[in-house]
Amino acid sequence: MTATPTRIAKSPELAAWSEFLKGIGVNAAYSRGNCLHVLGGRPLLLVCTLGADQARLEKALGHTERLANSKEWTGDLIVVGSHPLPEVLSYLDSDPPAGLIGQRVRPGHVLDPLAPEDGPPRLVYRPAGWQWSAALWHRCDTCGRLGVYAETGSWTTRPCGHDSGPWHCNDDEVPAISEAWGRASYAVNKRRSARARQAAS
Ligand SMILES: [Zn+2]
Repeated sequence: MTATPTRIAKSPELAAWSEFLKGIGVNAAYSRGNCLHVLGGRPLLLVCTLGADQARLEKALGHTERLANSKEWTGDLIVVGSHPLPEVLSYLDSDPPAGLIGQRVRPGHVLDPLAPEDGPPRLVYRPAGWQWSAALWHRCDTCGRLGVYAETGSWTTRPCGHDSGPWHCNDDEVPAISEAWGRASYAVNKRRSARARQAAS
């Protein structure tokens, strides 16, 4: 899919994410609706919230799905916070969360989670949509870049799309993530101050 960069109002948080992704070797393009198309073999539509906790991220899921539908986006989604190491609940405490990832699911019949436990299994129709879980940081062995996988979905690394790497690396990648974020925030703040000075002169 080719992303077309659009002229839109860019929030400082989204600008920092764009710069951060560039810093970790991932290409992304601004898109309509104040979001990023994160490009790769398994691309993501990225929406950024102002806070960085579970409740704040969860509140953005409905908006993110509606935005994806309005763009006819059929890939995975990711909701991130105002920094890349948010407080997101995760069953696996072995890789740090990056946000919440929505994995695209096809329409079809699935086991009914509401069926009585003592009764026979029941099938229900599930329309196309996204299954959400924690997005966990991971470094891909094939291309060497940082990416994320879906905790309770596919462990393919996004956005590169490769299926290799040392999952469960604990906090090994936290210094690299923090350093890249620090550089990105500094670069964005510097550009904003320069623009503000220019506007004032
Ligand atoms: Zn890779």
